[in-house]
Amino acid sequence: MNIERIKQLGKCCATEEPLHTSDNLTWVQLAFKAQWDFPVHGNVLTGQSRMALAVVHDCAIANDNDLMSEIKYAIELRDDEIIYHPLSELQPVVIKTYVIAGIGHEQSITCLRCNKTSYNSNDVKNKYCNYCKIFHEG
Ligand SMILES: [Zn+2]
Repeated sequence: MNIERIKQLGKCCATEEPLHTSDNLTWVQLAFKAQWDFPVHGNVLTGQSRMALAVVHDCAIANDNDLMSEIKYAIELRDDEIIYHPLSELQPVVIKTYVIAGIGHEQSITCLRCNKTSYNSNDVKNKYCNYCKIFHEG
C-alpha cells in the first residue's frame, strides 16, 4: 500500500470524501492508542509511541491549515486493505507536552509547546510552564 494507492482507494477520515479528488493528503496525529502496526506516530522526547493517525482530504483543511471537520476515524493499512477505526472504539491518551529530566534537586521541566526549560522545583512538581502560563496534563 503506497500513497498513490491510498489516494485511489481511500476516503477522508473526517468528511469521508474520496481522496482521489484531493490535491494533497494530510496526516493528522491523534491522541488515541493504535492497536495495529502501521501507520502509527510517536515522540522520542516523551517516549510515547504507537499512537493512531488519520488522513484527511483538502476539503477538511482551512486556508490557515486548521482542521475544519471533526475526525471520525483513525486509519490502519494492512496488506492491500485500508481499515477505518471509529475513534469511539479506541483508547484515548493524553499527549505529553513536557519532558522532565534529571534527578532529585537537579530536575528540570521542558515545555514542548514553547521549548523552554525551567529548573524551578515548583514548576517541575506542578508540571507548570511559566512562559505559556499553563499546567501540563498527563
Ligand atoms: Zn511553554
